Amino acid sequence: MRVYFDHNATTPVRPEVFEAIRPFLTEKFGNPSSLHWAGEEVAIEVDKARKEVADLINAQPKEIVFTAGGSEADNMAIKGALAVKKEKGKHFITTAVEHPAVRNTAKWLQKNGYDVTFLQVDSRGRIDLDELDASFRDDTVLVSAMFANNETGTVFPVKEIGRIAKEHGVLFHCDAVQAAGKLPIDVSSLNVDMLSISGHKLNAPKGVGALFIRRGLKVEHLIHGGHQERGRRAGTENVVGIIGFGEAARLAKVEMKKDYDKLTALRNKLEKSILEKIPDVLVNGDKENRLPNTLNVSFRYVEGEGILLFLNEAGIAASSGSACTSGTLDPSHVLLAMGLAHEDAHGSVRFSLGYGNDEAQVDYVIEQIPPIIERLRKMSPLTAKARG
Ligand SMILES: *Cc1c(COP(=O)(O)O)cnc(C)c1O
Repeated sequence: MRVYFDHNATTPVRPEVFEAIRPFLTEKFGNPSSLHWAGEEVAIEVDKARKEVADLINAQPKEIVFTAGGSEADNMAIKGALAVKKEKGKHFITTAVEHPAVRNTAKWLQKNGYDVTFLQVDSRGRIDLDELDASFRDDTVLVSAMFANNETGTVFPVKEIGRIAKEHGVLFHCDAVQAAGKLPIDVSSLNVDMLSISGHKLNAPKGVGALFIRRGLKVEHLIHGGHQERGRRAGTENVVGIIGFGEAARLAKVEMKKDYDKLTALRNKLEKSILEKIPDVLVNGDKENRLPNTLNVSFRYVEGEGILLFLNEAGIAASSGSACTSGTLDPSHVLLAMGLAHEDAHGSVRFSLGYGNDEAQVDYVIEQIPPIIERLRKMSPLTAKARG
């Protein structure tokens, strides 16, 4: 059996999305900037897709800039806003648990003369709004905080964060890549100035994303060239990606409630069964405010990488927070920021459910995990230590 429980990493393209894209790989090949029939028919469809993507977050189509993905949208928002506001100052506020697309942009800014405040989180991955409020300075230009965490699924109080930023007269960017398609997003009531989303996290192809930029707000461009995207992002459009993104956004909106209930039930069953069958398991994240599809657990005394290897042998695709960087296995910065011990962070596995998953797959995973953990714990020096 093959089970894909890694939807926070990427998702399959839905068949309806594939069908929507197909003509744009064959007869509808025009460049949307061309003024003849071949371009015009494509430009019309790109506009329709822009409307669908805008509708998913209750934005105006003009407020959507298509990018090459969530990472580019994050970079454009942060670098672009700081660049236009450079007279005001060089202080940027973000959190300690952001996706690398924001985190490493912040680190790059630090190396280039900016001051960055990384707001700390508690054991459930929540920021302290009073601490946020106290971190503003006269030279603060931008706050960037994610909607939902990609590793733990923890959902931030975005509207409140936006309200506080607004009170201080500071711009607010939200990385909503994991939330889009899973939770309702309404930019008209969230106090956000910019918001990033990505196609491949919601069953569209990889390599397309969007940045919502509130009407009237100017941000510096990352990519200079032609006049595409109303002059805000040069380069011939990724038509295939954009059309797919539009159809995926439309479907996500229609099915959101149904998917939410279905994924919550499957995830909860998985969580409950793991906790019942296996001792010494920690659930990482904020259970009260969490994405419906995400379960992050630490199996104490064992390594996440080992678990993933055995899961993979059983046909199960999941992921761990650890990233292999420069030969050393660094535990997840998100879990460490939440105060987990290194060993527990190392023992973490993320299961993220989505399109195509069903109860039979959950049952299969529940059956496969206990013997894997038992086997690894038998070999682990940490088990021996813990059990004296
Ligand atoms: C996946 C992801 C990104 C990056 O999006 P890409 O389209 O892969 O560049 C950014 N932020 C979060 C929270 C993500 O999960």
